[in-house]
Amino acid sequence: MYDAIHESTSNAKKSSSYILFFLAKFHKKTILAKDLTSLRAKKWERLKSSTIPLSEKCVAWRMYHSCLINYKIANLMSINSDTLCPYCYIDKSDCRHLSFCPNTKTFFEYLWKFISKSGIVLEQKNRLFGYSKPAHVNDIIFIAHNILYRRFLFNINSGNLDYDLLSKFRSRTFEFISQQSSMAKFNADILSFLNYWNQGNGLFSFMNNEIIFDLFILSDDS
Ligand SMILES: [Zn+2]
Repeated sequence: MYDAIHESTSNAKKSSSYILFFLAKFHKKTILAKDLTSLRAKKWERLKSSTIPLSEKCVAWRMYHSCLINYKIANLMSINSDTLCPYCYIDKSDCRHLSFCPNTKTFFEYLWKFISKSGIVLEQKNRLFGYSKPAHVNDIIFIAHNILYRRFLFNINSGNLDYDLLSKFRSRTFEFISQQSSMAKFNADILSFLNYWNQGNGLFSFMNNEIIFDLFILSDDS
């Protein structure tokens, strides 16, 4: 009988023991800083400072460490998959292919444009780990991870490929920023919200206690 946990664990052993660490229960005070660094777990500080919900952080975390279901596992589970990426037909067992598939080129071009609109200049494009700061850039990248994973789930559940990455990303980001502004209003702390989002620069404005999104993030003309 196929055992997804042991399968993914044995695969991970080939490159590192990281997944064992991920699956283990531990008290964080028992982990030494040097071990965190050697396990690449320093990157989790980017997740920690992100404000996306925990369930979405979990997907981003699993994307970091290649422990999401992939097309090969879906095939073994007799779900709609012939083991190949249905967009580029490459045989990749690493789920991080979801972020690096050639098919996502347009999506990431839009994403970098989206981030640059918010006044952030990125010298390198990091699709996987995000950046040490600012946190709102990582929010955008982690939302992208979630949308790519949702597309994968849509693919294997429906057997179809017609998932609109851009519009799904836009609507989730729109919803996320709107929820944050509502919480900020509720907590009477709009200032922190605006500081977090670099005053909404290029993405939205905040007038008369309402958030107004820039046409760029609402339009297909990207
Ligand atoms: Zn692909």
